[in-house]
Amino acid sequence: MSQTRILLSSPHMGGNERKYVKEAFKTNWIAPVGNNIDVFENQIKEYTGIKAACAVSSGTGAIHLALDLLDVGKDDIVFCSSLTFVASANPILYLGARPVFIDSELETWNMSPVALEEALEFYKTHEKLPKAVIIVNLYGQSAQMDKLVGICDKYGVPIIEDAAESLGAVYKGRMSGTFGKFGVFSFNGNKIITTSGGGMLISDEEIMIKKALKKATQSKETAAHYQHENIGYNYRLSNICAGIGRGQMEILEERIRQKRAIFEQYVYGLGDVEAVEFMPELKGSFHTRWLSALTIDSKILGVTAAEVIKHLAENNIEARPVWKPLHMQPLFAGYDYFSEGEDNSKFLFENGICLPSDTKMTVEEISRVIGSFRERIHVDKIFA
Ligand SMILES: *Cc1c(COP(=O)(O)O)cnc(C)c1O
Repeated sequence: MSQTRILLSSPHMGGNERKYVKEAFKTNWIAPVGNNIDVFENQIKEYTGIKAACAVSSGTGAIHLALDLLDVGKDDIVFCSSLTFVASANPILYLGARPVFIDSELETWNMSPVALEEALEFYKTHEKLPKAVIIVNLYGQSAQMDKLVGICDKYGVPIIEDAAESLGAVYKGRMSGTFGKFGVFSFNGNKIITTSGGGMLISDEEIMIKKALKKATQSKETAAHYQHENIGYNYRLSNICAGIGRGQMEILEERIRQKRAIFEQYVYGLGDVEAVEFMPELKGSFHTRWLSALTIDSKILGVTAAEVIKHLAENNIEARPVWKPLHMQPLFAGYDYFSEGEDNSKFLFENGICLPSDTKMTVEEISRVIGSFRERIHVDKIFA
């Protein structure tokens, strides 16, 4: 394999990150406090239009804090999208609560309002409504928030919006992440912008973010002698990492343009193949295309998604399956799952492919992905 490796999604610095990191060194704010953190939080507030934000060490930590602030504890129920990364649901287990998984709809690949309503109705009759619903926005696209918010409001259940993959997405004129009681972003290395590792908890309720900040710093009371009345965590983001985030926020819009251009090139190169269906972009919303995702019809093509991914790997191209649904994971065996009828998340997992969406790819490299993809599905033989 002499050709250069093509990555799924890797860190892509803009240029000013170093300057802000150096500033942290120059001022000796090498700590989980400092100017970079303040600036980074303000950038997120301004960008999303949210009132308050707390920078933390990971998206997972942000979800943990949100659940804790919603008073989730032992044997409580928390609903969560099934088609997602394990980090969406792990914090439910940290708190001794019980996850219940909700299927996706095919229109957005995100939480199905039908399945959600059915699950809420079921738990209402059993007099155990969930303490929270974690709604995930996959691959850069918002879930159908007006429907989902409407349903959750009807039952009086708060929403935690896991927008780890959807920073910059827009739904009906409003930024993704701002629809729940809490919103969560991640700045892990593979996300649309990164701080090497980091996250952000946001909310329009300033008092909640004040509480989050306290919980993220060991729940220290205001006293010189280290007084503690509640459980706390060490979840604050470092001022050095926040410097990277500060620089990354300056080029977020450019990265979104690049991600969408990559997707457009895939549509141009594969859109003629009937057995290929791209992840839809919901009408009235804006998909960042953090990852370009599609499904294939293996019956027509005579090849599975796994075989296509394997072929790409043999050509030094990193493609990935769509998330394995959490209700199918051994870790969560025995927990409830509600679907629309058809198991959509299972279908998307079995037939889905995430193509390389690295913003450092050249046009030639994207063509190489398309060529390799077409080679494996023998599309010229069938359709030419
Ligand atoms: C990345 C991711 C997270 C976790 O974020 P970390 O910063 O890696 O802890 C949570 N949910 C989803 C959907 C993610 O993709």
